[in-house]
Amino acid sequence: SYDECYIKSVMRTIPDWPEPGIQFRDITPLFKDPKALRMIADSFIQRYIDSEITHIASIDARGFLIASIVAYQLNIPLVLVRKKGKLPGETVYEEYKLEYGTASVEMQIDAVTDGDKVLVFDDLIATGGTVLAACSLIKQLGGEVIEAAALIDLPDLQGSARIQDAGVPVHALMAYE
Ligand code: 5GP
Repeated sequence: SYDECYIKSVMRTIPDWPEPGIQFRDITPLFKDPKALRMIADSFIQRYIDSEITHIASIDARGFLIASIVAYQLNIPLVLVRKKGKLPGETVYEEYKLEYGTASVEMQIDAVTDGDKVLVFDDLIATGGTVLAACSLIKQLGGEVIEAAALIDLPDLQGSARIQDAGVPVHALMAYE
């Protein structure tokens, strides 16, 4: 079963990356540790196995890695929320503010449709801007966002609070203060 101490012991924090003052929570060691990866995937699978969700919308790029395992096991569609400029065909995109400058995420217009009940999935919630932009795209396409899930929440940055204020419940496996 899920053991937060074990997961945190596998995780790694890189100081001053990608910029001075940022403590980057590096999840890549989790993928090198099959026990940790299995624990994390199983924990999400258990949470959503009997839920109403019909689609997982995974966020570029680390969100893809775990969401695809969960979608495979739940046997439901996996759709992609990508950084702008990566997806062919007709798309919608949403820009959002970063600390410095802007970012944007994009989805193909047929990724979700009216009535789909969508779980938004990313590795980490910081300011919440990425997840909120993904939620906005899903709603534009007619989908309903049931929950936003992440491995890690950084509650000091108040992103998960912003997402909840927008009416979307948040589920994170662990928090780093
Ligand atoms: P937000 O939009 O919530 O401010 O930032 C979240 C996005 O930035 C996520 O897609 C996440 O992958 C990335 N991110 C920001 N900080 C970190 C971090 O410390 N570790 C990891 N793994 N990703 C981060």
